[in-house]
Amino acid sequence: MSPLYDAHNHLQDHRLLEELPDILSAMQDVGIAHCVVNGTCESDWDRVLELARANPELILPSVGLHPWKISSRSDNWLERMTSAITSDPGSVYVGECGLDRWVHDPNIEEQKEVFVSQLTLAAEHNLPISIHCLKAWGPLLDILKKNHLPDRGFLLHSYGGSPELVPELVDLGAYFSFSGYFLRENKGRVREAFRRIPPHRVMVETDAPDMLPPENHRRYALKNSGVAPMNHPANLLSVMEGLAKTLEIEESQLRSLISKNFHSFFPVKLS
Ligand SMILES: [Zn+2]
Repeated sequence: MSPLYDAHNHLQDHRLLEELPDILSAMQDVGIAHCVVNGTCESDWDRVLELARANPELILPSVGLHPWKISSRSDNWLERMTSAITSDPGSVYVGECGLDRWVHDPNIEEQKEVFVSQLTLAAEHNLPISIHCLKAWGPLLDILKKNHLPDRGFLLHSYGGSPELVPELVDLGAYFSFSGYFLRENKGRVREAFRRIPPHRVMVETDAPDMLPPENHRRYALKNSGVAPMNHPANLLSVMEGLAKTLEIEESQLRSLISKNFHSFFPVKLS
């Protein structure tokens, strides 16, 4: 069977720090070949790049400014991001970035400006970009239609939009990644959306330590879970199994499909 590929996680998250060696070996045990580690603000980019240098076989680094974190940005954030992605061309991606109107008091105009800068950077270098979108599909579509997009397409991570939006997003070049959170009973509409996505545009992710899958889809738990339980990155295996059931296809077939999609979107060598 093809190995597993996590299109989106946050291994740099300080909540994972203490258990990281165990986490990395569990990821290896379940057969994860690559994962894309997404920075969310300037202060975690160095950590993302450092993790990728220490684990070059596993980790593909991505640096971005998340819509929740834009107020922390420095005056020269874009220069810093540009130099991170151009230092080793093609090996550092863009994201997590995007739009969010779910947060309390979102400054959507400022979010749009910051997102468009990152989208433009990805388009100029034809780099993979990982996009977060919550309750902001109208503004996102508007931006995607008006701006130059990377020729390779873009990734909508933890896609939670409606099934009806899928065809338009596909035409614009979207890939969609499914996270285990959507295996919850009340997320039937998201699973319906994934049944409408063409097979060559589907990926899976954990978004660990966030987007915790329901209990019956969690094989791994973090020891140091603190107050709220967190998502273990090795739960990717359960996400894959859950998506195969949702799409009513064999797990082995879904694995080879996702391996192909992952490699067409992210510029990595086949392993
Ligand atoms: Zn994320």
